[in-house]
Amino acid sequence: MVRSVTAPLDLPALHASHAGTWMCGRDGAVREVAKGEAVMAVADTPLLILNAPLVATRLGYPDLSGLDLLELFAFVHPAQFCVPTPKGLAEALGLPAPASDAEVPALLRQAAAELLDRCEVEEWGEREGAWSSLQSLARLRWPWAQLLMPKIRQPERAEKWLFSRLPQWEENDDRPQPKQVDLSRAEIEAQLDALTGDAAERRDGQRRYAGEAAHVFAPRARRDAPHMLLAQAGTGIGKTLGYLAPASLWAKESGGTVWVSTYTKNLQRQLRSESARAWPAPREDGTPPVVVRKGRENYLCLLNLEDALQGGFGGRPAVLAQLVARWAAYTRDGDMIGGDLPGWLGTLFRRRAIRSLTDQRGECVYAGCPHYRKCFIERAARQSAQADLVIANHALVMVNAARGRDTANKPSRVIFDEGHHVFDAADSTFAAALSGSEAIELKRWILGPERGSKGRRRGLAARLADIASYDESGGQAIDAATEAAQALPASGWLGRLAEGAPLGPIEQLLAAVRAATYARDESGGIEAGYGIETEAAGLDGAIVEQAANAADALAAIRKPLLKLAGRLEAVIEDAPDWLDAQGRARVEGARYSLGWRIDLLAAWEAMLDRLGGPGDPEFVDWLAVERSDAREFDVAIHRHWLDPIKPFARTVLDGAHGVMLTSATLAERDEDGAPEWPSAVARSGAPHLEVKPALFAAQSPFDYATQAEILVVTDIRKGDIPALAGAYARLIEAAGGGVLGLFTAIRRLRAVHGRIADRLARTGLPLYAQHVDPIDTGTLTDIFRDDPRASLLGTDALRDGVDVPGDSLRCVVMEQVPWPRPTILHRARRLAAAETEGGAKAYDDRMIRARLAQAFGRLVRRADDRGQFVMLSPAFPSRFLTAFPQGTPVIRCPLDEAIARVAAAEVNKKQSKAGTSHYSRA
Ligand code: SF4
Repeated sequence: MVRSVTAPLDLPALHASHAGTWMCGRDGAVREVAKGEAVMAVADTPLLILNAPLVATRLGYPDLSGLDLLELFAFVHPAQFCVPTPKGLAEALGLPAPASDAEVPALLRQAAAELLDRCEVEEWGEREGAWSSLQSLARLRWPWAQLLMPKIRQPERAEKWLFSRLPQWEENDDRPQPKQVDLSRAEIEAQLDALTGDAAERRDGQRRYAGEAAHVFAPRARRDAPHMLLAQAGTGIGKTLGYLAPASLWAKESGGTVWVSTYTKNLQRQLRSESARAWPAPREDGTPPVVVRKGRENYLCLLNLEDALQGGFGGRPAVLAQLVARWAAYTRDGDMIGGDLPGWLGTLFRRRAIRSLTDQRGECVYAGCPHYRKCFIERAARQSAQADLVIANHALVMVNAARGRDTANKPSRVIFDEGHHVFDAADSTFAAALSGSEAIELKRWILGPERGSKGRRRGLAARLADIASYDESGGQAIDAATEAAQALPASGWLGRLAEGAPLGPIEQLLAAVRAATYARDESGGIEAGYGIETEAAGLDGAIVEQAANAADALAAIRKPLLKLAGRLEAVIEDAPDWLDAQGRARVEGARYSLGWRIDLLAAWEAMLDRLGGPGDPEFVDWLAVERSDAREFDVAIHRHWLDPIKPFARTVLDGAHGVMLTSATLAERDEDGAPEWPSAVARSGAPHLEVKPALFAAQSPFDYATQAEILVVTDIRKGDIPALAGAYARLIEAAGGGVLGLFTAIRRLRAVHGRIADRLARTGLPLYAQHVDPIDTGTLTDIFRDDPRASLLGTDALRDGVDVPGDSLRCVVMEQVPWPRPTILHRARRLAAAETEGGAKAYDDRMIRARLAQAFGRLVRRADDRGQFVMLSPAFPSRFLTAFPQGTPVIRCPLDEAIARVAAAEVNKKQSKAGTSHYSRA
């Protein structure tokens, strides 16, 4: 697109950062203004801004609105990536990046003009549907609509509605069983060479790793005994291509499907791009050989979108629905969470609005839905059944195995990358919680939305009306379930609990749970505002009685649902003439979702039965009041498996033919760097199947002795927040940004951020923070990656969800040893570990070392990365040092010396970009 340089848009613009606030008038003159003046100006006239919620936070003015460039970008270029910062916007539009905060308002005027002008250009790739969408947005008084109107010409022919434009998926025959094949070492090596490219250096570790990975694809020798491999591969081995080599070969020769499961979205992204080397193009019939598959709650539900577009949403959420509809026409796969819908779009509106466009509640009506043949979820499910490689996440693999609709499509060869997270994923997947919000979801699923809510969502009776009139007992079962579901909580339940006026047996139970949790709270206000919990033991008679009443009420719902499931099965077996293929698919779908609800109700009843009696040693139960920022949002009874690997082994491993768990931090290391396998083997599930897994370890090829160093700072006292904040600020200044700061408590993160963000911004070092900035974690990471001067503070999710190779991440700072939180669940597992070798202390130590290893792992991602790991903990125990790669220098020193070393490393790096630099030994 060759065009003349665009003149800036003739509107004022505003930019606010931690360093100050700048405005640019229509005349192009920029001046720094006080926050008060900016607030007055923005209340007066619509100003050009970037990321309204963030500007609102910076100005301390929550009602801020204006002409947000991000909304315009989402309209003009739906499904295109843009880092939501001035620099990111400039890069996305091919404009020069601003050199300082003061230059940002001018950039906003330029970028607005550029985006508007693009709509006039003939080659604009996203023109289709824009005019119609704009008419709706104008009716909604979207501020950009009037500026866009003159730019977008009315098409000569009426544009097709989104729902008729989307392609239909095709039904395919089931794939035949995979052939049994044995892969030879020579074939695997040749495939690895092909994937890494002729020019790639020969990496012995990777070759050995690929050869071992092939082990899981060999024909199985014994039923219920999958081949299992635990493979530890240090960072830089090239494990992705290492396992994709045998996986792609096996898929080709056997005609089967390999599943690769990850824990983080980052790795999914990376796998999607690396798998293109093995499967560079779609098949001849156009079907994709590689499919990314996620839980259904990630995808756009077209029926929900249609509801939202037709009046289900009002005000700002209605604008969001229009922008999502623009995106839906251009998206690769309809994935709204971590796919090509910008993560920032939800935060510009309300996150809840995004969620309500997905199929969160499992209300899908399957073949009864008018968009069934275009549904993104159904498309992904069909594509994955035909794919050579399915890229999924741990939770989905587990949920699919536990309650998949189609057992024939159960994954049989699975590679769990980020295998150290299998335990955590199993822990949450196989847990149960009877909470107010879960119970209200169930009520809506049975009864439909409560009176007064808009939309076309319907309850069970309406969804199965034809079955009810055809099959009398089925109809009676629906009536009985509908009546019994009245006992579930209704909206406003949380308020009624607080007022002591609960309605019905479940609300009464939750009120008793809440009262007991507060009564037994021992946190002494330390964690004020965060969740509190208490054991589900030694409860008084009143709560036990409420639990019994609630269990009866739940059983009264479950029994008719069970009867209904039986009737649906009978209808399918002896299908009436009027039940066509679509109707059959709908009844099948209903059976599937009924089964899931019946299991849920049974699990809740089992939990309640235990409240008054002796505990079940397999489970840990507790009561909780969930709070965030001092606001209660749920009350719950929780149940987790003491060892969640048991259900994992039963549902995922049992029946599989080959399973590999791999990670850089799967096993512990002894002082000589050799892996110690017992705990990794126990956490793989192999012992539950009496399988002996193959074990493999390859050291990282990186030279940690010259590429990294660990600085243990000895003079920051624990609990001294001013000193902690000062240390962070000085370290970030010394490093010139590029610092990832990890915290174990949100409270301390906020306190530190509040003290240092302004100071750093004034020196041109932006500081972003999880739990502070109104930006989702994925977008925060994108921002951090994009700006080498930015630093990022965060908690657990950033400890191993961040993959930032290169210059943007130069230093990781941990505020203290990441001790496990003393929750009831942790206490129970620790107690159980006391009986095993090493005892409870070894259990905690293992957990801490794993966290340290993950955090350290963020630092050096490539052969030319250099970095420092700073631990602000004077009493850092030496026994944790085996968490770090062997040979990494460890220096215990006061803060001043650590700062000097960080600053020196920065200078050193700048001087020798060619890669010859190294940290001088102390
Ligand atoms: S088939 Fe289900 S998930 Fe798909 S669009 Fe229809 S209701 Fe939504």
